[in-house]
Amino acid sequence: MKSFFSLTLDSLEKELLANNYKSYNANQIFDWVYRKNCLDFNLMTNIKKELREYLINNYSLSLPKIVVRQEAKDKTIKYLFELEDSKKVEGVLMRQSYGNSVCVSSEVGCNMGCSFCASGLKKKTRNLLSEEMTMMVYAIGLDTKERVSSVVIMGTGEPLDNLEEVLKFIRTINSKIGLEIGIRHITLSTCGIVPKIYELSEENLGINLAISLHAPTNELRSKLMPINKVYPIEELIESVKYYFEKTKRRITFEYLMLDGINDSYECGIALSNLIKGLNAYVNLIPYNHVDEFSYKKSKESNVSKFYDTLKKCGINVTLRKKLGDDIDAACGQLRSKVK
Ligand code: SAH
Repeated sequence: MKSFFSLTLDSLEKELLANNYKSYNANQIFDWVYRKNCLDFNLMTNIKKELREYLINNYSLSLPKIVVRQEAKDKTIKYLFELEDSKKVEGVLMRQSYGNSVCVSSEVGCNMGCSFCASGLKKKTRNLLSEEMTMMVYAIGLDTKERVSSVVIMGTGEPLDNLEEVLKFIRTINSKIGLEIGIRHITLSTCGIVPKIYELSEENLGINLAISLHAPTNELRSKLMPINKVYPIEELIESVKYYFEKTKRRITFEYLMLDGINDSYECGIALSNLIKGLNAYVNLIPYNHVDEFSYKKSKESNVSKFYDTLKKCGINVTLRKKLGDDIDAACGQLRSKVK
């Protein structure tokens, strides 16, 4: 049986028409599920019995089980979900000034092997399906009884390594009457799989693209992120330029601040020279502690100096707010500690 959450409004409309139902039935069903939070086709009173039976026979409305729910002091909530095949995956609810944002994982485990990230400590065992990502966002909204207004695809996994399902997920949560997450409120973060950035550009979706850059030279970046040996910085920057030309969406470069590694004045200048002239800004990310690694987060004074260096070079720069680090829910801390 298929999951109801694998459907976009368009695909349900098409299916209903093909089966001699009315296209407006799709709107009604989406309204029940997504606006009235109804998870039982039988309770959909304005849908005729025959169609309810069709839905019951073809679609499941069950959600992944929440096996762990941890709430941080700042009200960030980390969820560990159990999927149908018992695989576990995390999602995080963050409370931002502009509304609630959910960070979703795109894979079970991750093969990118970034040297500072806990998510890669467990190798990827499979991609997540679009409906599994959608269900996470839906289940978090249901659990908090609050609207989710933005989604960041920044949890465990490399979304561009699972592009097809991620694209379907984006279209599903952007459906009108569905979760109604505005396209400009969806951000995809990648370590830089260059051919996939070109593919994503062609989709011209209007989502925000964030690039995990973390170092301004190939020598340093290859030490921190193995993907750089496959797609070096020059190629990455070319693909990012192309993304901007195609979509006119401003790019974010994420830059992790690692004490004594990439936070020097020289790195600041090199970073500025690298991205000068691009329509982009830099988001400085405080390093979050991971037991297995010996990295330390940059001293606050060095972060301010680095910030000032970029500013003086005319680069737009922001500092990422850290959320949920007391429950290991912050960037780079996601991994399932449960077997
Ligand atoms: N694979 C994607 C998305 C997952 S990582 C990517 O690489 O972008 C989400 C963000 O958290 C990335 O920018 C990643 O580099 C960052 N990150 C990883 N480990 C971190 C840590 N220990 N502290 C802070 N940020 C970290």
